[in-house]
Amino acid sequence: MSFVVAIDGPAGSGKGTVTKLVAKKLDLVNIDTGAMYRCVALEALRKNINSTQIEKVEKMLENIEIEMKKQDEKEIIFLNGRDVTSEIRTPEVDGCVAKFAALKCVRDKMTPLQRKMGKKANIIMEGRDIGTTVFPDADVKIYLDASVEERANRRYKQDKEKGIDITYEEVLESIKQRHKLETEREIAPLRQAEDAIYIDSSNMTIDEVVEKVIKIIEKTRN
Ligand code: C5P
Repeated sequence: MSFVVAIDGPAGSGKGTVTKLVAKKLDLVNIDTGAMYRCVALEALRKNINSTQIEKVEKMLENIEIEMKKQDEKEIIFLNGRDVTSEIRTPEVDGCVAKFAALKCVRDKMTPLQRKMGKKANIIMEGRDIGTTVFPDADVKIYLDASVEERANRRYKQDKEKGIDITYEEVLESIKQRHKLETEREIAPLRQAEDAIYIDSSNMTIDEVVEKVIKIIEKTRN
């Protein structure tokens, strides 16, 4: 049996950064499930399909292949053989991904894929529904949170570093909208699993969060 760490939480909670660092330190395979939903949204944007055109989305899903590969210490995401690592993180994708992620046909395709990936190695998997739906029996479950202002602030800084032209207010609005869609959707909504450990990272540095997560994992693993 592989060892599974589930990390859930909203956008901007620090999940991505923390998960990468913890994976490296503890030699766990890092799986970013958000990247998979982002690939779906990107492909739909490219094909001009919106989230109400269910039949078109279903057809599109038949021809989607997502691969994650580690190259030079970096996680590269391939969509049908093309490197889309940067393209899946634009404000356009941010703006529509939660609508696609709420669709049953999309989750029915992604959830089994994620379970399959998790069975191959000792993993740390980050997302929204990992501890509640994908791996309800995960060895360790963490719910990473932060205030909405802090989450928007972090995402705004990341966007600026990437040279994206966006205001703080626009980022805040996008984060709030996404949160509403993610917590209110019918299938696999974002919520803390009953047995997850809650961490509020609003006033913590990345290193402090990483240290805390590692301590929690090591306590279970040893
Ligand atoms: O984590 P990230 O912000 O990259 O995720 C992108 C989107 O994918 C989220 O806004 C959410 O709607 C969706 N998602 C999901 N379930 C997951 C991971 C992400 O619905 N397990």
